[in-house]
Amino acid sequence: MATLRFDALKETLRRSPVKIQETERRSDLFGENVFNQKAMRQYLTKDSFESLKNAIEKGDSIDRSLAENISAGMKEWAISKGATHYTHWFQPLTGSTAEKHDAFFETVEDGGAMEKFNGSQLIQQEPDASSLPNGGIRNTFEARGYTAWDPSSPAFVWGPTLCIPTVFVSYTGEALDYKTPLLRSVSALDKAATDVVKYFDKKVNKVITTLGWEQEYFLVDSALASTRPDLMMSGRTLLGHSPAKGQQLDDHYFGSIPSRVLNYMRDLERECMLLGIPVKTRHNEVAPNQFELAPIFEEVNLAVDHNSLLMDVMDKVAERHHFRVLFHEKPFQGVNGSGKHNNWSLATDSGSNLLSPGKTPMKNLRFLTFFINTIKAFYENEELIRATIASASNDHRLGANEAPPAVMSVFIGSQLTKVLDELEKITDGKLSPEEKTDLKLNVVGKIPEILLDNTDRNRTSPFAFTGNKFELRAVGSTANCADPMTVLNAIVAKQLKEFKIEVDGLIANKKMKKDDAIFNVLREYIKSSKKIRFEGDGYGMAWEKEAEKRGLSNYGTTPEALKPKISKKAIKLFGDLEIMNDTEIKARYEIEIDEYSKHIQIEGRVLGDIARNHIIPTAIKYQNVLIKNVKGLKEIYGSEFKDQAKEQMNIIESISVHIEMINKGVEEMIEERKKANAIEDPTQKAFAYCEKVKPFFDDIRYHCDKLELLVDDEIWPLTKYRELLFTK
Ligand code: ADP
Ligand code: MG
Repeated sequence: MATLRFDALKETLRRSPVKIQETERRSDLFGENVFNQKAMRQYLTKDSFESLKNAIEKGDSIDRSLAENISAGMKEWAISKGATHYTHWFQPLTGSTAEKHDAFFETVEDGGAMEKFNGSQLIQQEPDASSLPNGGIRNTFEARGYTAWDPSSPAFVWGPTLCIPTVFVSYTGEALDYKTPLLRSVSALDKAATDVVKYFDKKVNKVITTLGWEQEYFLVDSALASTRPDLMMSGRTLLGHSPAKGQQLDDHYFGSIPSRVLNYMRDLERECMLLGIPVKTRHNEVAPNQFELAPIFEEVNLAVDHNSLLMDVMDKVAERHHFRVLFHEKPFQGVNGSGKHNNWSLATDSGSNLLSPGKTPMKNLRFLTFFINTIKAFYENEELIRATIASASNDHRLGANEAPPAVMSVFIGSQLTKVLDELEKITDGKLSPEEKTDLKLNVVGKIPEILLDNTDRNRTSPFAFTGNKFELRAVGSTANCADPMTVLNAIVAKQLKEFKIEVDGLIANKKMKKDDAIFNVLREYIKSSKKIRFEGDGYGMAWEKEAEKRGLSNYGTTPEALKPKISKKAIKLFGDLEIMNDTEIKARYEIEIDEYSKHIQIEGRVLGDIARNHIIPTAIKYQNVLIKNVKGLKEIYGSEFKDQAKEQMNIIESISVHIEMINKGVEEMIEERKKANAIEDPTQKAFAYCEKVKPFFDDIRYHCDKLELLVDDEIWPLTKYRELLFTK
């Protein structure tokens, strides 16, 4: 008897929702556990408060004595919130967050004890993090790594711990985390964008990047999930037959949220409020048991921290509700996968969105400048964008059978397409007064009203303009947003710098007026980046063919897709902008390519184990039942038993065939794994895993899934798709 599966099902059916009482207003809870300005004002001296504010807003450095005062205040505040420990909280290149808790508690000389937290403990730590991925950086020179306080992301209390967001760098200053390059890209883009904004508004001193992510996920009952070694070990189901009913009825999207789930969401949102994560939207997604959570957008560094924190909080809160959160991009074959849309824009220090069309032609010219430069940057660097979203798990969404192709393109909608078409036609050189009037009245001047009724929304595009922001939809649901955001910031920064040089050149050398120069450069950009624009169905085969004609890349797998990360072009881009040096770039590539191999290796092992330890023994058990039955029939019917036992005999035979095929597949896969493991070069190893090992997964799965349909449900050990997806 497959007791585990049925026990889990019984347990799941018995569950009642964990009731959540919401007595407080959410706005009252918001940021309660964050060391924000309100807390700072209360716990810091006036001088410290002002200096810290300057450090946050202007990046001023924080000296020792100031740090002492801040740490003392922070400690008092944290203890008032129930914290007993503190930790430097950072995002190493593992993809999750890291923390090492130290108690405030310390003994003192007279035998007593007190709570301590000094300035140096706040500012810098040296975590013993030797086993975190470093791509060779820390082996070569100094094994030490440092965490250093990032005052631009406020400290918070989560559970009994004061968490201090930090960067993580090597002794020699190389980034070992996601945050460091992100912060560098933010300042590169700030500088480049501020220089360009000054064409339109001299008063702007700073441009910030904004990010609003949308997190998709699945919820599965924890008892059911724990019966699936594949879900537990690899985050996705490696086998399992599709249920009779899937998402074909479209009855889940925006449907009413099941009450157990709703209670989970409310509990989660309450925690988010306390932690200052401004979550706003929740809804069902396309697939059964799939959901989405989105916040109000924030400055990108904070938004990235909040997404990483959220993923932790989601896991922890799920425990209370007996759920397991599946962040994997494709937990179930044949069922819609999960992504993490990254809504990206730029805003001035006075809060004006640079990707939002305005009321005057001048505002719209500013809008067009940033809009067109972004498209051009995306075109010039489409391979790098593809590389930044590549991972073993995201491969199931991009370029796989049931997903959009891995081609990067930009969707802007028909109205803006018309605007760009008009701009493309303007004369080369200085514009005539009539042409300018026409531009102002009929092209640039028309933008706001047409955008308002711009209803076309293409859901198949990996990079879509949605009214006042670009939405990078190709990011995977497990990803840390920092990497794609770093790339997007970097390529746009580079593009804006070039734009400025070109415009200034036309003004100086061709004696053009500023507007004329801007129009001229934009016109050329529209022409030269046209190939990246695609308004049609991104999921169709036709687009894949068309994209190839246009010379756009289409890398179906991670080992291929990652290569542009270490191209000369990428090294120059990040180097010129001082975002990452050669060593940092190569280290990251090495970590990612290695991670890929490990990922496939684990999946291969888990699949092999399940196939041999669960599926084959179960199939044999059932086959024995049939054999006994046939023998019994023979006893009763003598030589005529074959007429009575025809079906049974067929099934007995099919089972033997499937068992043989599974065994053969597993053996051959193990052989290929051994060969792959012997390869030294990490890139070649990843290709071996991708091209030689992974292809066995589908074969093995096919035969296991066929057995699932043949074998008596009573003895099938693995919780089935219909149970994982439809149990509420
Ligand atoms: P969708 O239709 O894709 O669900 P919404 O308009 O609801 O899109 O917004 C999705 C996300 O975009 C939200 O997280 C929102 O905060 C974010 N967003 C809106 N404006 C901006 C902006 N200027 N910069 C970055 N993100 C933004
Ligand atoms: Mg979206």
